[in-house]
Amino acid sequence: MIQFEEALRIVTDSAFETGVEEILFDSSTGRVLAENVLSDIDMPPFNRSAVDGYACRREDIGSELEVVETIPAGKMPEVPVGRRQCSKIMTGSVVPAECDMVVMVEDTEILPSGRIIFRGSSGKNNISLRGEDIRAGDQVLEAGTLIKPQDIAVMAAAGCTRVLARKRPALAVISSGNELVVPADKPAPGQIRDSNSYQLTAQAVRAGAVPAFYGIASDDKEETYRIVEKAIIENDIVIITGGVSMGEFDFVPMVMERAGVKILFTRVAVQPGKPTTFGAHPAALVFGLPGNPVSSFIQFELLVRPLILRMMGCRTGIADIALPAGVDYSRKSADRMACIPVIIDKRGSVTPVEFHGSAHIASLTHADGIMQVPAGKLSIKKGEIVNVRQI
Ligand code: AMP
Ligand code: MG
Repeated sequence: MIQFEEALRIVTDSAFETGVEEILFDSSTGRVLAENVLSDIDMPPFNRSAVDGYACRREDIGSELEVVETIPAGKMPEVPVGRRQCSKIMTGSVVPAECDMVVMVEDTEILPSGRIIFRGSSGKNNISLRGEDIRAGDQVLEAGTLIKPQDIAVMAAAGCTRVLARKRPALAVISSGNELVVPADKPAPGQIRDSNSYQLTAQAVRAGAVPAFYGIASDDKEETYRIVEKAIIENDIVIITGGVSMGEFDFVPMVMERAGVKILFTRVAVQPGKPTTFGAHPAALVFGLPGNPVSSFIQFELLVRPLILRMMGCRTGIADIALPAGVDYSRKSADRMACIPVIIDKRGSVTPVEFHGSAHIASLTHADGIMQVPAGKLSIKKGEIVNVRQI
């Protein structure tokens, strides 16, 4: 049995980077940039009014001002603004070259003569200067960035309509067990519905991979071997759940080996999920995850998700958050890291959800995160800071 940190290191060190492809910027959310993005223009591209008001010279704001033009957004000013003159201007319009200030409409009064006078006290210019945010040629996004919606806006403004992104890893999901039936079927006595395949598929999508379901393998070595072998050839990551414990039909590690997978570990000191198995094949990295749905869920979040991010070339890993425990916690044995589903309340305190063990899938639906209690630690006092992975 190896410690969790060691298992994570082995998994992420085994990562190979997926290739790159050019994609449209507006469908790149959740992808990882494979190149730096530069702007082809200054931002803002001209001296831009930040408010609706009157563009004028600062030295004139004590005087009555004659309005010489109205400048809508998208039009260049046409009439020069002379001494004791101004132009009515809209937010986002080009400020005339002669003006160094825009007075807000709220700070002005229109006189019977049609002239305006400044009544405010604000000394602000209300002008966003050309290039003050970004200069043409500046880098606006860095290779390795996991693209968020706000990055899409930056790409749009920078004129970057196609980007190089890492390919998403192809990930195969296989379930194993004679007792499993598809969700549409009502289980006969002794049977249970396959929930792992669907949970893992959804986790894979959320993590950025492209999942494919290879079906339920019965507890038959030959059949399992055939499916695993095919999945390895066709994918970057293969996950098979069930069949990794110590039971008579738990031959997944053996099948992995026969398929040419070099087994790198078969036991991890994590509760739940100890029998988690991992190995490398030249074509794919292969996980044998425990059949219990809570264990399989947690092991995916702990080991598979960081691998997917690494394979996509993501600069940043997963940031756990440090939060105070909302209640005292203790356990009898501390030989493994414990992963406890928790609720995070409004003040950030974490409290374990009701949890009956690793088959209790309903517990996870109430949880906001997984609290990680390090190996060697028997208890946590209320208020003590713990590491939580959001789920
Ligand atoms: P195993 O790892 O094959 O010994 O399975 C451990 C437990 O998880 C058993 O109770 C299985 O019935 C259950 N299990 C295995 N695979 C699945 C699955 N795909 N969906 C839901 N439960 C499963
Ligand atoms: Mg089984």
